[in-house]
Amino acid sequence: MTYADPRAELNLPYTHVTDMFIDGQWVPAHSHNRTDVVDPATEQVWGSVPDADGEDVDAAVGAARNAFDAGPWPRLTPAQRAEHLLRIADEIEARADVLSATNTRENGSPVMETAGAAANAASIFRFFATLADYLQAEDVRIAPVGGHQTLVRRDPIGVCALIAPWNFPINLVVIKLAPALLAGNTVVIKPATPTPLSIRFIIEAIEAAGVPGGVVNLITGDAAAGDMLVRHRDVDKVAFTGSTAVGRKIAAVCGELLRPVTLELGGKSSAVVLPDADLDAMSQVLVRSCLRNTGQTCYISTRILAPAQRYDEVVEMVAATIAAAKCGDPFDPDTVFGPVANKMQYDKVLHYLESAWNEGARLVTGGRPADVTRGYFITPAVLADVTPEMTVAREEIFGPVITILAYETIDEAVEIANSTRFGLGGIVFSADPDAALAVAQRIDSGSVGINFFASNHSAPFGGRKDSGLGVEYGVEGLSAYLSYKSIHRR
Ligand code: NAD
Repeated sequence: MTYADPRAELNLPYTHVTDMFIDGQWVPAHSHNRTDVVDPATEQVWGSVPDADGEDVDAAVGAARNAFDAGPWPRLTPAQRAEHLLRIADEIEARADVLSATNTRENGSPVMETAGAAANAASIFRFFATLADYLQAEDVRIAPVGGHQTLVRRDPIGVCALIAPWNFPINLVVIKLAPALLAGNTVVIKPATPTPLSIRFIIEAIEAAGVPGGVVNLITGDAAAGDMLVRHRDVDKVAFTGSTAVGRKIAAVCGELLRPVTLELGGKSSAVVLPDADLDAMSQVLVRSCLRNTGQTCYISTRILAPAQRYDEVVEMVAATIAAAKCGDPFDPDTVFGPVANKMQYDKVLHYLESAWNEGARLVTGGRPADVTRGYFITPAVLADVTPEMTVAREEIFGPVITILAYETIDEAVEIANSTRFGLGGIVFSADPDAALAVAQRIDSGSVGINFFASNHSAPFGGRKDSGLGVEYGVEGLSAYLSYKSIHRR
């Protein structure tokens, strides 16, 4: 079947594909089932990929198993693997434009966002390459009892299944892939169903960098393919980013199998605005910190907690800032808010907005299907008079919706911030660094920013409570791909 393609001028190399990357080659899928790839800005089907069946999963895991058990990769020194990581970084950067366009077309993330995807991925590979010395350093410890020596080895775990969501289809694979490879593991990647194409440029970069066949394998498919991968007898570790509901299912399977698992899950983070906060400065970072990627970012602080005495001022600033940001075609370089990434998410966001109206929140701006004839556009919504019990204050919406709640005392603000079942991000806005730090320390989450939010490749990133298990980034993120072994000797 062919489709009229309104964006044919983009000339993207990957559209309707029939292959997967297994054992160092693009091979035709065994499965004949396929999934369409939809441009959320136009609702146009512009691509399709095969849905892996059991034989495809077996082939990919088998290739990774052989590469781990008998191939050169785990036997290279960490420094040699780091050389490959540096070459991969260069090769990814060489593909920045086409990767950005494919990513934008898959999930509607504005080019303002995806233009940096390749540079960010490259910087993650380069950061993990710097940890080769840490892996290589001889670690000998003296027993406090007995006085003997113990050589502590940091071995790779084996075959890792890397499963990603659709909101940042490159970054959320690469933060798993780079440490897994540096440690000497082999991997099978499964991107999310709506975003299976941009990841192919990472595979191209890996091929071009000379990584041996079987070390990195790519399958496409839906939840069933992911489930087969998680359960496969030859998988030794699972690393997952996605929803809390799916994370729970994967944790249950891995618990039964006693298989190590890292889970980066959903969030519902708060921006605590202290009474002395500089609202002009907050306005400058508001979109990036609270509504990045059209609200489809796990750690953003979509709940703004404003002091009662400045509530109206905060609502006015937030509404004016959000309403002034351009919403529209994600390929327009000035667009800040693109469409919601897919139909399911679009319906979910509208459903949450309806619940807000029914439960008594006040819509200050946006919150309606945008005035367009096609595409999953919703104008970014600011909801005021929200209370902690409302559905929109408790559940992850994952779309362009900000809620603003009032508090009377700092203790109450902290209590509201910690009252959800999530614990991923958070921000404290204040002119006083000490006061901000004191509040940041009381927020029960894996990361908190002061007057902005940005993760750091060298520091752990992860969630508490229903936001996940384990961390990514930093030397701690590398540890998630290591199996420790102590060799005692006299
Ligand atoms: P999702 O959980 O629906 O899917 C994620 C991935 O899991 C997809 O590849 C999907 O095909 C696969 N999958 C689904 N069911 C599976 C199963 N039973 N076994 C194995 N794999 C399965 O998530 P999504 O809708 O793609 O992404 C949005 C969610 O991701 C949000 O909740 C968001 O907060 C979360 N997220 C978290 C982080 C973080 O670092 N904590 C980062 C980004 C996104």
